[in-house]
Amino acid sequence: MSRTALVTGGTRGIGAAISIGLKEAGYTVAASYAGNDEAANAFKAETGIEVYKFDVGDFQSCQDAIAKIEGEVGPIDVLVNNAGITRDAMLHKMTIDQWRDVMSTNMDSLFNTTKNVIDGMRERGFGRIINISSINGQKGQMGQTNYSAAKAGLVGFTKALAQEGARKGITANAVAPGYIATEMVKAIPEDVLNKQILPYIPVGRLGEPEEIARCVAFLASDEAGFITGSTITVNGGQYFAS
Ligand code: NDP
Repeated sequence: MSRTALVTGGTRGIGAAISIGLKEAGYTVAASYAGNDEAANAFKAETGIEVYKFDVGDFQSCQDAIAKIEGEVGPIDVLVNNAGITRDAMLHKMTIDQWRDVMSTNMDSLFNTTKNVIDGMRERGFGRIINISSINGQKGQMGQTNYSAAKAGLVGFTKALAQEGARKGITANAVAPGYIATEMVKAIPEDVLNKQILPYIPVGRLGEPEEIARCVAFLASDEAGFITGSTITVNGGQYFAS
């Protein structure tokens, strides 16, 4: 029987590539999203992957949705915490709502989803938790105190969970992408991209969502059972995290 994976924010961007990559690797995949029904329905029609709408920042919504997913699709063996948002502003101009929205979606979500799958993983003696961080959680980024804090906090969560799960066959790892060619990044004016972004990426190009997806698929596999508590940096050499 194939293993089941839940990819949060799995209907667009990097998450969509991860959902598709895991499906191609033989997993039964459920992809979650927040509110963009049009994108989610198009993704479902194109891929055949089931989609579920719930707010990863809300504990009760996650509890209800995960119970529904496990009932319909199967017990979750692989959880990819990918859903994330930015609400950029310099700290002196940042509002409490910008801070809280980013913490809710990028940080509270880790507890809200993982808490609802961890018991089953412990009982079955197998689990893979893969958390999507960011280069900006590693190096910091002007205008992103909220996002950088959340993405760095995610790494601490991953390391602690790795220790808790190790004897139960559960690994927890993070992947830290650099600039990836999603719609958001492609929307940056060509001039800005060519002058202010690409020169700082030693490989000379943006990353592709599929390059993150392949990394996630490897971490999800049985072959990656000895890798836990790690952060895999995928940024074209833009920043070397120690
Ligand atoms: P996108 O904005 O393309 O997609 C985000 C996905 O997350 C969507 O499916 C969205 O749903 C969902 N989502 C957003 N908020 C919530 C919420 N509260 N509850 C449930 N789902 C939610 O993101 P990217 O592909 O660009 O980024 C994916 C991850 O990778 C994020 O964690 C991001 O921080 C990280 N990252 C991205 C980089 C990049 O270059 N793009 C670089 C480094 C890290 P809906 O469609 O309904 O809005």
